[in-house]
Amino acid sequence: MENRTLRVFKTTDYREKPNSDELAFGRTFTDHMFVMDYSESEGWHDAKIVPYEPLKVDPAAMVFHYGQSVFEGLKAYLNPQGEPLLFRPQKNIARLNRSNERLCIPPIDEDFLLHALKQLIHIEKEWIPEADGTSLYIRPMIISTEPFLGVAPSKQYKLVIILSPVGAYYKEGINPIKIAVENEYVRAVRGGTGEAKTGGNYASSLKAQEVASKGGYSQVLWLDGVEKKYIEEVGSMNVFFKIGDEVVTPQLNGSILSGVTRSSVIQLLEHWGVNVRESKLTIEELYEEYTNGNVEEVFGSGTAAVISPIGQLDWNNHQMVFNNGKTGKLAKELYDTLTGIQYGRLADPFNWVEKVTAHNEMHKVG
Ligand SMILES: *Cc1c(COP(=O)(O)O)cnc(C)c1O
Repeated sequence: MENRTLRVFKTTDYREKPNSDELAFGRTFTDHMFVMDYSESEGWHDAKIVPYEPLKVDPAAMVFHYGQSVFEGLKAYLNPQGEPLLFRPQKNIARLNRSNERLCIPPIDEDFLLHALKQLIHIEKEWIPEADGTSLYIRPMIISTEPFLGVAPSKQYKLVIILSPVGAYYKEGINPIKIAVENEYVRAVRGGTGEAKTGGNYASSLKAQEVASKGGYSQVLWLDGVEKKYIEEVGSMNVFFKIGDEVVTPQLNGSILSGVTRSSVIQLLEHWGVNVRESKLTIEELYEEYTNGNVEEVFGSGTAAVISPIGQLDWNNHQMVFNNGKTGKLAKELYDTLTGIQYGRLADPFNWVEKVTAHNEMHKVG
């Protein structure tokens, strides 16, 4: 039923590439995109790389009404030899399928999607910026396209991968951020869709983010949706606390997104012999450890920033300042090591990095 052919239709109208120093996040897109469709009779089919262009989707498409959609986010990097690298792409594709499962979207063939992604990256490799800290952001997404206003899983879908060259996240060196604990709004609840990468989670987080921005904070720290007691995530990052000689991160509980960076941080720390504890942690416990002088470092983890040190955390009337508001030693070490591996500058002891080479390319047409 499934058709694994990948056809390539090259553009004739190449776009101008932005300068490395003008790159923002997610505003410029490359010449080509990958698309694949799903129907009940054909399964996932008609995979192709085509010139980047607006999608033609029926206004009755279910995604516009009930939000049945999932997405992913990862990056391609250039190593010192100028070869494109991907960082643990299988993890993102596997997570895409877990998100699919939660959102009643039919699973995709993971090997085929990785092959298609590599081919797209190979074709667009000139778009991977070279300057320090820059990369090509990869955004796969699946939307429900059946034109139907009934509330049910769609019978048609479109999978799209678009690419966007992005600038360095830290332009003047890695920099701590200021965070507010969110007491009113919640991001997700157990049993909900918090563990899936789905647009609805982001739609429901905007309000809290807006209020926090007005108060001068860059993100919010999310507490669990039931008791508003347990620490879950920070903005759209996972979160870590160095408390004494231990690093604590909230355990995956169904409402926390299972970050690829999170899992890499845990693996690296364990490799270095640092004690990592995945467990519940309440905001009260954190404050108590803080007042006892035990909280040495706090940082977030995610594909965009890699590691984002948290210099200040405000909770009700309490202000917690970590490591004098400076980037901690561990955060810096993790950042340097992870980015070193991602850009192929450091040894890759866990085989996290995949090179994109020409022989990935096949079935070229047009
Ligand atoms: C994507 C995401 C993360 C980070 O995941 P990575 O795989 O490390 O990029 C964390 N939290 C939320 C809510 C996310 O959507």
